[in-house]
Order: sequence, then C-alpha cells, then structure tokens
Amino acid sequence: MVGYAKWGVHMSGEGIKVLVVEDESSIRKFITINLKRDGFQVLEAESGEEALEMMKTCKARIIVLDVMLPGIDGFEVCQKIRETEPDAIIVMLTARNQDMDKIMGLELGADDYMVKPFNPLELVARIRTILRRSEKNKVELGETITLKSYCVDLKSQKFFKNGLEVELTPREFSIITTFMKNPGRALSRDELLNIVWGKNYFGDIKTVDVHIRRLREKIEDNSSEPQFIKTVWGYGYICQ
Ligand code: CA
Repeated sequence: MVGYAKWGVHMSGEGIKVLVVEDESSIRKFITINLKRDGFQVLEAESGEEALEMMKTCKARIIVLDVMLPGIDGFEVCQKIRETEPDAIIVMLTARNQDMDKIMGLELGADDYMVKPFNPLELVARIRTILRRSEKNKVELGETITLKSYCVDLKSQKFFKNGLEVELTPREFSIITTFMKNPGRALSRDELLNIVWGKNYFGDIKTVDVHIRRLREKIEDNSSEPQFIKTVWGYGYICQ
C-alpha cells in the first residue's frame, strides 16, 4: 500500500462509483470489500438485467462485469452499456481463457479483463491504472487534441490537417472529435449515432456511413483507401 501514497489524494477511489456485476455472492462480496477498502463507492448487481437497470440511474464510472451471468451474459451487458456510456470503464471477469479474444476484441470495447481466479488487489490496481490513464487523457485533451497529422481545436471548433484548416460541418466536427477522443477504440454505428446525433434521434443508421464518407473525402489523402478513419466491418469505425 506504500506505493499508493505517491499518487496523491486525488487518486484515491473516493467518490468514484463502481458497479460490480457478479451472480456468485462470495466473489461479489470479496471484490466489493477490496474496492471499498480503497475508497470506492460500490454498488452491486446479481444479473445483467439488474446491472442495466441500475446504470440508468446510478451512472457508475467503472463496471466490473462477470461474463457468466444468469440471463443475458456479460458480453451483451458490455455492449449495451457501451451504447449509452461510451466513457464508462469496463473490466470484465472471465473464467475461461478462450473468452479473452472476444473480450478484448474490437466489437466489445471492454477496457480490461481478468481471468478467474484473480487477486482482488490486482483488480483494484488495474482499475487505478485505467483511471490514471483516463485522467491523463482528460488533462491532455485540454482544448486541442492532436493525432497523427490531425488536430481539433475544441474551443474554436476548428479542424486542422498538417496545420491547415479543413472546413467541416458541425456534424462532421462532432464525429471527428468523437474519434479523436477515443483513438484506437472501435465505435459502433449505434454509439456514434448516440453521441453525435443524440439519444433521441431515430433516423437511419446509414446516416452515419454517409457522414463518414463525406468526412473521409475532406480529410483523408485518398478517401477510397482511408488511413485515419478505418472501417470495422459489420460494426462501425475506428480512428488510429
Ligand atoms: Ca458468474
């Protein structure tokens, strides 16, 4: 525990909400105890359905999510949470090694995973690492985000490629900002629709593709072979 001291007070789990989703009560309690000991505020759910219901009101920043659950499984819960909470930190628990590819695969968007049996202290340490990384991203985001030769200025709402401004529509600006805030993470069409168009938009999901195509024409060197916004077939897009 000595090592934690240097991270300072702001790195304690104080006030940060964690939702632990696990049907086996002994494991759930064990995780909860360790998280609470570290200052996290912990909520518990015994099933995926309960977790999704709780997420509507509790807005946990971190979700510790078991794969094997009664009813809908952890994979489905993960995808559903991602649709509405793109910034939530999701750490999955699995008993099977073969789940790993799926967990870390582009289609799910989990931030990390742990294979059972695991040391709960390691789980807490992992959560802290992810939190640190996301805090750092926030600080670095500031008012501009730079990725490769692209830069968005959030204050002036301007977009630059190789230092030259590229004129974008507000919608296109919102799309590119979403990508640049999430480098290396595949974003589904649903997720993009939710973030950029809002949760109350009920238009065709193809709208996303149309906008991405126009955006690529403006910002890629060769829009038929995009290097910045890439397609994740059957899912959505990734910026890397
Ligand atoms: Ca379980």
